Amino acid sequence: MNAVPPAFPTSETPAGESEPAAETAKPFLDELFAEGVLIPSGVDGLYGRSGAFEDVIDRFEVLIERLAHEDGAVKIHFPPAMPRVNMEKSGYLKSFPQLAGSIHSFVGGDADHCRLLAAIAEGADWSTFQQATDLVLTPAACYPLYPTVAAKGAVPEKGLLFDLKSYCFRHEPSKEPTRMQFFRMRENVCIGSPEQVKEFRERWLERGPKLVRLLELPCTLDVANDPFFGRGGKLMARNQRDQQLKFELLIPVNSVEEPTACLSFNYHQDHFGTLWQMSRENGEVAHSACVGFGLERIALALFRQHGTDVEAWPKSVRKVLWG
Ligand code: ATP
Ligand code: ZN
Repeated sequence: MNAVPPAFPTSETPAGESEPAAETAKPFLDELFAEGVLIPSGVDGLYGRSGAFEDVIDRFEVLIERLAHEDGAVKIHFPPAMPRVNMEKSGYLKSFPQLAGSIHSFVGGDADHCRLLAAIAEGADWSTFQQATDLVLTPAACYPLYPTVAAKGAVPEKGLLFDLKSYCFRHEPSKEPTRMQFFRMRENVCIGSPEQVKEFRERWLERGPKLVRLLELPCTLDVANDPFFGRGGKLMARNQRDQQLKFELLIPVNSVEEPTACLSFNYHQDHFGTLWQMSRENGEVAHSACVGFGLERIALALFRQHGTDVEAWPKSVRKVLWG
């Protein structure tokens, strides 16, 4: 018997043995705070992480690396910011202006500084003394990659594979623990011919669920769309769904009825290839796809399913993570 009954039924859970989350239970976020797994900052979606939480993410990343070792993907860590011009060019502000974050800083002299301090003292808006810098916050781990690939010349005929990790920012404050403003994405990206890129996505569509099931988490795959902004966005979302350009691996964290997207599998067709002028050696525009693991969401799914005390997780799950 597991020390902690799983929150949601898995294929391994004998009938009647699971205990669905009690409706009367404390909200999951409060439980995470009370147990010290996440540390509140005073702002929704911005949290400290405990050592145990980070350890789970570290171990999960080792699993991903093991699973994808044979790919020989090039590892790159970009900082959580990217050039502002690249966000402008990427079209992110057209599709997701509501999520974007930019970095501003003080650039005035002594007189402006005095006014800035006076504004703070009066509780007035001091942000007017800040100006946009050359930097914006990275919204997805793969965004800084494409311009750097384009700058290196033609994409070789065998294609390119990258293994990326970055803290990402999205302005979507929420009390729902899986919707953070700062979170980490581990992304694998393929750039090459349409066939290479589609084959890459198929491979991960098999690997993703396999990995998650090893951790005894229930999961389902589904077609999805990005949260495109505004009225025009509805059409883009429908188009994305119709063409099955985005799949998500859903795991129950808050509820069985509305499981959370913990991995996404995106086929961009030639969107980034055209935008950044990434060409293949044969002169054709390169296609791309990315597979993103939401590291915090995976960790939260584990804490939700197996309990907030990692020592009490099922032996089988501990073995997969810690060996
Ligand atoms: P959602 O539909 O939940 O808003 P998304 O489709 O916008 O997510 P992607 O852009 O595909 O997400 O991002 C890749 C992965 O990053 C997601 O599958 C998810 O696991 C994670 N992720 C996205 N937004 C957040 C967030 N606000 N907090 C934590 N993780 C996130
Ligand atoms: Zn991506």
